[in-house]
Amino acid sequence: MVFSMSFRKSTISAFNMVQKGFRPLVLCGPSGTGKSTLIKKLFDELPDSFGFSISHTTRKPRAGEQNGKEYYFTDKEEMQSQIDRGQFLESATYSGNMYGTSKRAVEDVQRAGKVCVLDIDVQGVKQIKKTITLDPLYVFVKPPSISELEKRLRERNTETEESLQLRLKAAQEEIEYGEQPGNFHLVIENDNVEKAYKKLRDFVVSEIERQKGLGASTKCRFIQFIYAEQLI
Ligand code: ADP
Ligand code: 5GP
Repeated sequence: MVFSMSFRKSTISAFNMVQKGFRPLVLCGPSGTGKSTLIKKLFDELPDSFGFSISHTTRKPRAGEQNGKEYYFTDKEEMQSQIDRGQFLESATYSGNMYGTSKRAVEDVQRAGKVCVLDIDVQGVKQIKKTITLDPLYVFVKPPSISELEKRLRERNTETEESLQLRLKAAQEEIEYGEQPGNFHLVIENDNVEKAYKKLRDFVVSEIERQKGLGASTKCRFIQFIYAEQLI
């Protein structure tokens, strides 16, 4: 792709601003491993610092899930047309349903001056790694074992037998990717919620402090995001 000189300058200066903004936080790990549980604890403790990137999905809402809170619930045609129009940072098909992070979802959190937290699968992580847009911190949450994962999924009582089996099938590959050195900044085994949360919290808080020392501010990251999205 060929960029004009002025466009290149603006993207380079935008890229430099990455260094000044707080980095978003990506949580990844097999379905049922405890990501939502850990994210909820983070938001309960530090509601003014973190905001959730509300993904789109074509799966049906679970009992208690609200449109615009856990997800934006949509259908395949609408979501595909939004993807085709370049409105998504990443998207994936997981367990037979589409999931994706819209640019708007991240922008909404950054506009509120908060650190954006994304809960996405391995396919999404791989796509985000290919762009400079977000430059997030990557945390992988793994279960103590596949049998414990199955137990959690069954006890959560949200899946049909078919979707549960698809999730367990995906889990093995996800764990292999998660455990590969260099793929994530932090890998947390969620054998105990309090212990796992402490690891996540300590990591995130120390990282924010470190970034503050480097002059980070959420406003700069928002500016960076709207410039850099032109690269996609
Ligand atoms: P995910 O968001 O990764 O799909 P959830 O946060 O929904 O996973 O957790 C799946 C289920 O496991 C929930 O019922 C949750 O209460 C439970 N859970 C989470 N962490 C633990 C843990 N350390 N030990 C036992 N159960 C857990
Ligand atoms: P669930 O149906 O259990 O809410 O989510 C299933 C899987 O989809 C989880 O691993 C979750 O991290 C992932 N997921 C949720 N939102 C997104 C998204 O926007 N993009 C991608 N790639 N994965 C997502």
